[in-house]
Amino acid sequence: MRIKIADVSGFCFGVERVIELVEKKSKETPVDTLGPLIHNPVVVRELEKKGVKAVSSLKETKKKAVVIRAHGVPPDIYREAENLNINLFDGTCPFVKIVQNMAKKLCEDGYEVVVVGKKHHPEVIGVVGYTNGKALVVSSPEEARSIPLKKKRVGVVVQTTFRFDVFAKCVEELMRRAHEVRVFNTRCSDTDRRQEAAIKLAKEVEVVIVVGGKNSSNTRRLYELTEKQGVKAYHIESPDELKSSWFNGVEEVGIIGGASTPQKVVEEVVERIKSFEISHHS
Ligand code: SF4
Repeated sequence: MRIKIADVSGFCFGVERVIELVEKKSKETPVDTLGPLIHNPVVVRELEKKGVKAVSSLKETKKKAVVIRAHGVPPDIYREAENLNINLFDGTCPFVKIVQNMAKKLCEDGYEVVVVGKKHHPEVIGVVGYTNGKALVVSSPEEARSIPLKKKRVGVVVQTTFRFDVFAKCVEELMRRAHEVRVFNTRCSDTDRRQEAAIKLAKEVEVVIVVGGKNSSNTRRLYELTEKQGVKAYHIESPDELKSSWFNGVEEVGIIGGASTPQKVVEEVVERIKSFEISHHS
């Protein structure tokens, strides 16, 4: 059985960066993270073992330093940290920073800001904060059609990991309703490259194993995309979920890790699949 790993797999730039930040800072001083650092329970558990806790608010921490994750936060968190005398180490991904800055600028320039994205996603909550809570959030063309607009000048940004086709349809709907629509395509290129790699992989193998947190929307999307190509696909979080029966008679297996999946877990998955083959032949 041949095992192929996708051209883009494992941590994206922003996640790699924030993990390095936590590792570096936690050696210097005790730190917590505001929210789980990434959508991957394996990594979150490992951090906990090192004493880095995911707190849901700044008030909850007993430490003097907290790391902001790649998704970013609304600006009032920085003010709250100052009041509580907590040192913030900012791991906001630079691509997310662009979305925040664009939303802020559009708001200051008098546009009605629309964020295309998932309302409850931490990144979107952070971005909306940069418009003093004024931005409207839409996640579907239907919402873009019906959301109450107060102005005829609309400024649009999009969540970094949002689907391009749905984003474009939302923009089209807004264009039917406004005189001016200023659009910034703030999607992150990692998402596209990874999705293209998943599609390519699915066309080359018989079975695809998508590795990543079940709560990671980018990983779930990779699973959907691979399955759509007509290949047998499985979404797992850890090698323990693998079943040897999935590989009976299979010659080529493809593996892809989500943006928050450590390379180590991908390698463990490879090893486990290889071990099935050995036990099968012995
Ligand atoms: S997916 Fe893109 S925007 Fe999000 S953390 Fe990774 S590199 Fe940054």
